[in-house]
Amino acid sequence: MYKTIVIGTGPAGLTAAIYLARANLNPLVIEGPEPGGQLTTTTEVENFPGFPEGIMGPELMANMRKQAERFGAEFRTGWINSVDTSKRPFTLSLEGGETLQAETLIISTGASAKYLGIPGERDNVGRGVSTCATCDGFFFRGKKIIVVGGGDSAMEEANFLTRFASEVVLVHRRAELRASKIMQDRARENPKITWMLNRTPLEVHATGMGVTGLKVLNNETGKEEVIETQGLFVAIGHTPNTKFLGGQIETDEIGYIKVKPGTSETNVPGIFACGDVQDNRYRQAITAAGSGCMAALDCEKFLEGSAVHDWSATLS
Ligand code: NAP
Repeated sequence: MYKTIVIGTGPAGLTAAIYLARANLNPLVIEGPEPGGQLTTTTEVENFPGFPEGIMGPELMANMRKQAERFGAEFRTGWINSVDTSKRPFTLSLEGGETLQAETLIISTGASAKYLGIPGERDNVGRGVSTCATCDGFFFRGKKIIVVGGGDSAMEEANFLTRFASEVVLVHRRAELRASKIMQDRARENPKITWMLNRTPLEVHATGMGVTGLKVLNNETGKEEVIETQGLFVAIGHTPNTKFLGGQIETDEIGYIKVKPGTSETNVPGIFACGDVQDNRYRQAITAAGSGCMAALDCEKFLEGSAVHDWSATLS
C-alpha cells in the first residue's frame, strides 16, 4: 500500500514525484505507453526556464525522471485498466491482473494531440509535422506552413504561426469552420493566412530532409491536389487521457478533469489532478510542472490531515 501513486510521467507527474519524494512520501510513479509525455515527441525546447541554450525534449524529461529517482521515487511501467475511487485506499487495476492500493492519487495522464492518421504523418513528427505551434513555430521562420483544422485551436495556431512563417495555409475538410466567430474573424483579417477549405488531407509528402507537401482531396471537384509546404501543423483537437477513470471523477464535457479553482483537488477527496489532463487552456510544459508542484503540496497537506491509520485498519 502506497501513501501516494502518481499516474503519468510528463512534466506534471514528474514534478509532483520530485516534491513528494523530497517530502519522504515515497511515491510510486506509473509510466504509461508514452513515458515522458508529449515533450518526448518534440525536438528542442527553448521556452522552459533555466535552459538559455534550449534543451531537447527527451533530455529534459529524462533529467526530471532522474531528479525524482534521486529522492527515492519508485517507477514502474504499467497500463491502468481501471480505478476504484469509491473508497480509500483507492485501488488501481493494471493490465495483467495486478492491483495496487494507495491512500492518495495524483492523476497526470496528460492529453494526447489528435492526429489525422494519414500516411507520412507520424513518421515526420519532429521533422516538419507538429501538433504544437508554441513549441515548434520558431523553427519555421520564413517558411510556408499548413495548419489543418477548423476549430479555435487551428485559428489560434494559424495566427500565431504568421509571426514566423512567410505564409500559412489553413486546410479544413469542410466549407464551414467550427471556430468561434471572433477567432475566425481574427484569422480572416490576417493577410498572411490563405484558405483552402473543403479539402480532406490524404497524405504527407516528405523527403528524408523534411516535409515537402500535403496531398488533399478537393471535396468540391473530387480531384486530388498537392499543396507544397515545409511544415504541417495538425490542430484538430486534443483528447484528455481520462477514459480509465470510468466517469468516477468529475470532468467537463470533453473529458478534462475539473479541479477546484486555484488547487489540484478533484471532486474525490484524496485524488488530485495536474498537467494537461485538467488544463484545456495553457498546455505548456512549465504550467504542467507548476501544477504538478501544486498537486504534490495539496496531497502532502491532505495526508497530514488524514486518518491514515484508520484506512489501513480497514484493509486487514
Ligand atoms: P475542435 O473544436 O473539436 O475542432 C477540431 C477541428 O478539427 C474541427 O474543425 C474538425 O473538423 C477538425 N477535425 C477533427 N478531426 C479531423 C480529422 N480527422 N481530419 C480533419 N479535420 C479534423 O477542437 P479545438 O479547436 O482544439 O478546440 C477544442 C476546445 O478548446 C473548443 O471548445 C475551443 O473553443 C477551445 N479552444 C479555445 C481557444 C480560445 O478561445 N483561445 C483556443 C483553442 C481551443 P469538423 O469541424 O469538420 O468536425
